[in-house]
Amino acid sequence: MQRRNKCSLCSERPDHRMASVYWRWVWPSGDRRGYRQLFDRECFSTIAPRLTLAASDSELCPSCNEPVQYPGNIDVWATWFIPGQDRKEGALRYHVGCFEQVADFYLQGAFRLADHLEGWGEGPLAPASQPQRWGSWDSVDLTPG
Ligand SMILES: [Zn+2]
Ligand SMILES: [Zn+2]
Repeated sequence: MQRRNKCSLCSERPDHRMASVYWRWVWPSGDRRGYRQLFDRECFSTIAPRLTLAASDSELCPSCNEPVQYPGNIDVWATWFIPGQDRKEGALRYHVGCFEQVADFYLQGAFRLADHLEGWGEGPLAPASQPQRWGSWDSVDLTPG
């Protein structure tokens, strides 16, 4: 008997399947991070605008809305699964300083993922138009509870 998963934001254990969001980024130090958050239906509205932005190929920093040039940026790669929908993915391009101020959001209630997973590419991160980079997430079991 497994307990139901908790929503990353409100810590409730809903009786419906939650949306999963995977975040990955690399700090300028080379420290690779990967986190998974779960959102119930009520809390998903908190993250939805950010995912919409991630899917939009925007070159504007989500924090300050100024253009972000490479380098000097942190790309936050997102893959999300909404129950009953296809997997979606995108990226948010932050200024390093801007991301440092909001990084805690992505850690809230999150599970840290092992960073030996495949897909941590060699060299610069590829643009969002190369979805095959995310292939390794297919092996992750997303069935809640
Ligand atoms: Zn919640
Ligand atoms: Zn910024």
